[in-house]
Amino acid sequence: MKLERVLVVGGGMAGLHTVRSLREKGFQGAVTFLGEERHAPYDRPPLSKAVLAGSARGAVEKVDELAFAFDFAEAEVQCRFGERAVGWAPGVVTTGTGVELRYDRLVVATGSVPIQLGFGETLRTYEDSVRLRERINGGKPMAIVGAGWIGAEVATAARNAGTGVVVHEARDRPLAAIFPPAVGQAMTAWYAEAGVELKCSDPVTGPPPGVDHTLVAVGARPDTRWLGEAFHRAQDGSLLVSEYLETNVPGVFAVGDVAAYRSVRYGGRHIRVEHWDNALRGPQALVPNVLEGVGAELHDPVPYFWSEQFGRMVQYVGHHTSADRMVLRGDLSTPTWSVCWLDPHARLTAVLAVGRPRDLAQGRRLVTAGAVLDAARVADAGAALTTAVL
Ligand SMILES: Cc1cc2nc3c(=O)[nH]c(=O)nc-3n(C[C@H](O)[C@H](O)[C@H](O)COP(=O)(O)OP(=O)(O)OC[C@H]3O[C@@H](n4cnc5c(N)ncnc54)[C@H](O)[C@@H]3O)c2cc1C
Repeated sequence: MKLERVLVVGGGMAGLHTVRSLREKGFQGAVTFLGEERHAPYDRPPLSKAVLAGSARGAVEKVDELAFAFDFAEAEVQCRFGERAVGWAPGVVTTGTGVELRYDRLVVATGSVPIQLGFGETLRTYEDSVRLRERINGGKPMAIVGAGWIGAEVATAARNAGTGVVVHEARDRPLAAIFPPAVGQAMTAWYAEAGVELKCSDPVTGPPPGVDHTLVAVGARPDTRWLGEAFHRAQDGSLLVSEYLETNVPGVFAVGDVAAYRSVRYGGRHIRVEHWDNALRGPQALVPNVLEGVGAELHDPVPYFWSEQFGRMVQYVGHHTSADRMVLRGDLSTPTWSVCWLDPHARLTAVLAVGRPRDLAQGRRLVTAGAVLDAARVADAGAALTTAVL
């Protein structure tokens, strides 16, 4: 199959790093970069943090301040921002303006879109964030549906602006799908301390009464309908790709939030990691597979993400299951603590660190290495995690 034209669809972080890596790895053919948003790619995590903080705290005022440094003209990348892909056929993508873009290899990096409940607003783009900031700064009480990562960060920003917030959570605690009750209870206390009213076991079905506006933050799903029927997908619409990030259609790859990749590390299951680090690392593995042939590089990182909420830096690395044993490092009612998970062979599978970046950094190395740890030593929060290695 000749390789003269690569088309990258999706102008976010995964798309940008794909384009950059194609040129860095010496690809000299045509690169076309199509993105629905009219801006050049920008960093999304500040949308629920620095952008909401507003100018009073010296924060972001223009989307350009969040843009990734890359000279598209110098790299001879043909950018088509503000244009959406609406159709696919072998070797060609059609845009909303009716243009047909032909390719030899296609990379789909279209991310995901917030789940809508039929009321309230959502947060995904710079424009969403600026609108939300205006509302928060308006000072009128607001509701947030969903006590997940984004819900907690927006609640933090609202309280910092002095705005009253009620958070409605369907489950009995925050992040119940990921963390056990003890962790959820510790996080529940953070809401109360910040003056946020958290209503758990409260699945709302319409706009909550008594507030000026509502943010719906109940997760995001890839929108891949424009690709038609030829592609294998997971139930949430994400594209199923191999460990080399190729879809079932030869020559078509997917990376970032839109992809559920086959993880060798996690028993061959397909996993979708909706976090920044995955959108950064995915393209590094993807591009060798595009340029040198499928099989050139495996994508199988240890997942990592962070969140900044209620004055705390929360970081998680790895992947744990309910079969793993939880070991506490420190007291969950204090400002800093960690939780480690050990599998039945005492291998470290994951670390959740609150204000303990050293645990996170060491944990990341140990999880990657598959290190076996002594649980009693892990529980000693005063000793470095590395000293627990058996
Ligand atoms: C508010 C917010 C805060 C976050 N905070 C954190 C954090 O603290 N830590 C962390 O680890 N992660 C965080 N994330 C997640 C992280 O930002 C994402 O994992 C990352 O942006 C994924 O990059 P992506 O390129 O795969 O997708 P996206 O960033 O979603 O980019 C996809 C792009 O494709 C475009 N597109 C979609 N469909 C089409 C189409 N048909 N044609 C053309 N273009 C299309 C979209 O408009 C979008 O610009 C946050 C996300 C959000 C929204």
